[in-house]
Amino acid sequence: MNRETAALHLAYTRPDAYGALSVPVYNNVSYEFADAQTMSDVFCNRIKAPDYSRVANPTVTNLEQRVKVLTGAEHVTAFNSGMAAISNTLMAVAGQGGNIVTSWHLFGNTLALIGRTLLRFGVTPRLCDLTNLAEVEKRIDEKTCCVFLEIVTNPQLEVADLEALASIAHKKGTVLIADSTVIPFTETHLGDLGVDIEVLSSTKYLSGGGTSLGGLVIDYGCKPEFNQRLKQEQLFNFGAYMPAQSAYMQTLGLETLAVRYRQQAANALALAEALQNVKGIVRVDYVGLPNHRFHDLAQRQFGPTAGAMLTFDLESQQACFNFLNRLKIIHRATNLFDNRTLAIHPASTIFGLFGDKEKRVMDVRPTTIRLSVGLEAVEDLLSDIKQALE
Ligand SMILES: *Cc1c(COP(=O)(O)O)cnc(C)c1O
Repeated sequence: MNRETAALHLAYTRPDAYGALSVPVYNNVSYEFADAQTMSDVFCNRIKAPDYSRVANPTVTNLEQRVKVLTGAEHVTAFNSGMAAISNTLMAVAGQGGNIVTSWHLFGNTLALIGRTLLRFGVTPRLCDLTNLAEVEKRIDEKTCCVFLEIVTNPQLEVADLEALASIAHKKGTVLIADSTVIPFTETHLGDLGVDIEVLSSTKYLSGGGTSLGGLVIDYGCKPEFNQRLKQEQLFNFGAYMPAQSAYMQTLGLETLAVRYRQQAANALALAEALQNVKGIVRVDYVGLPNHRFHDLAQRQFGPTAGAMLTFDLESQQACFNFLNRLKIIHRATNLFDNRTLAIHPASTIFGLFGDKEKRVMDVRPTTIRLSVGLEAVEDLLSDIKQALE
């Protein structure tokens, strides 16, 4: 089956009593057992069946199974947000005295998780330039728990050379963990590029309509103890599993993901091309533009599309604020990959609590607008942008 077909036709493992065609939402907490022995067998993992919805739920398992088939992964675990997926993954690979080799160019909360929260538990961040392979190799030592990166960074649009970084990580005995939120797994096979664990915020493309929070951990066979720790220890002890209602909405999102994504990526490319000739815009960044510094690398790794996130720069921060205030169709909002187009000024919002010096290191400029391009007609988006710049 092709992935488009599989996304629609993968059945749930145990059909419900009425033969419902879409997956039922199991909004229950507990499950009853036929007898005491079966109950013991399920609790002790001798029989695979749900026992308590903090750690297992048929609606969530169905989503995990579908993602597993679509990605070819060994294990998939769904969490209640992207940050829960990332924090649980890092807590499963890292421990006291270890270090994480990563970049300044990270989603703000991920940077704070690694730079602040995990530091309190004795895990040291090693921030480096991931485009400098020699530097990365030097920063990995026997205490390195993982190399962590985002496949296309937000908002800098830096693309990681996954094959090169995976081979360095593996040579030095560690694993590569990649946040793939900006390019969905329907377009690329990160496992084939050497990524050991893929994490993503399913709040974004998967959910699509901005209906629900979620996160996925896609394990390509990292190490047996990783999956064991995630499922047998952390789901129980941290309690951040995806709720059934969210899994239902995200399963619906998964069924139309590839179609929505390809249209959004096509819209982003058309818009990026047009914005290069709009008065008042001094710079346009989109990985899909042939003149972008990471265009070729992105095409090689992710195929012909380059996501639906682009940035452009105006003369000043004030010009950015004026622009945002005048928008009529495009929404001032912080989500990514909603069906609607969303605009934000990252320096004063997502990165607003970082200092100016930190923002310079992170390459978050006061003149940048970030656009998450939706499914509207490009013509309408362009005219909204033009009128807001006047
Ligand atoms: C949004 C986002 C996250 C966090 O996801 P939530 O679902 O909001 O917790 C992590 N990484 C990236 C790249 C994101 O865009």
